[in-house]
Amino acid sequence: RTVYLNGDYLPETEAKVSIFDRAFLMADGIYEVTSVLEGKLIDFPGHATRLQRSLSELDLRAPCTMEELLEIHRELIRVNEITEGLVYLQITRGAPGDRDFVFPDPETTEPTIVLFTQNKPGLATSPMADTGMKIISIEDQRWGRRDIKTVQLLYPSMGKMMAKKAGCDDAWMVEDGFVTEGTSNNAYIVKGNKIITRALSNDILHGITRAAVLRFATEAQMEVEERNFSIEEAQGADEAFITSASAFVMPVVEIDGTAVGDGKPGHRAKRLREIYLEESLKMAI
Ligand code: PMP
Repeated sequence: RTVYLNGDYLPETEAKVSIFDRAFLMADGIYEVTSVLEGKLIDFPGHATRLQRSLSELDLRAPCTMEELLEIHRELIRVNEITEGLVYLQITRGAPGDRDFVFPDPETTEPTIVLFTQNKPGLATSPMADTGMKIISIEDQRWGRRDIKTVQLLYPSMGKMMAKKAGCDDAWMVEDGFVTEGTSNNAYIVKGNKIITRALSNDILHGITRAAVLRFATEAQMEVEERNFSIEEAQGADEAFITSASAFVMPVVEIDGTAVGDGKPGHRAKRLREIYLEESLKMAI
């Protein structure tokens, strides 16, 4: 596999980063994941916009323009022959000469930029879309700036492991009695014709898929309500689902051992998945 590192396209075994890189020592970096369907990028402008926001919130410098970034994405898709899969992008504060809590001088320390592809045939036809996901709830113990897409993913990773140990597919995190989001996705419930999801704030990542799905839901004459909901309300809802760039729209059929609705993927979640795949492919670049 060919990867991209600081201006060069390299075989993955030759791409090396310093042990002083601040992402390695302090999780001082941000990332984006963009899915690829039919060899094209899904919602690249959305991901580029969020990337710029993450950079500016952390006072990180973009090592290239968004146009150049698009070209790098496209070149990796081409050389690695990705039809269905993902492009991972990471930008860190780089590698100053030593470990220090103080940010290095941006004049002397270049950011580190890494991109690689992941080949995922069948991404859009995942069997989980037909069976639905089983979810556990866990306490949200992450830091307070979840709106910034940092590489600080230890707690979400632990949450995923807790779900796995419980024989489930993922965890929804709960703070002050309300669901924030999934370990790597946004969380939704459906009541009647209403799609309910937590409003945007520093408490959750502003999902690129979320923005698109809420728009498509409104266009499909569904109502959208951005508000908090509890695990109990979710268990009693008609449907539940999650969204993310790599899972698109995925139905949730069980929460903490309780079936949601009739325990099968709900028809609104299924419909939103169809619309999302169809419409986002039309706009793919
Ligand atoms: N929340 C969290 C915590 C995530 O990690 C992700 C996936 N990056 C999402 C939500 C979904 O965001 P997106 O639709 O942009 O992939």
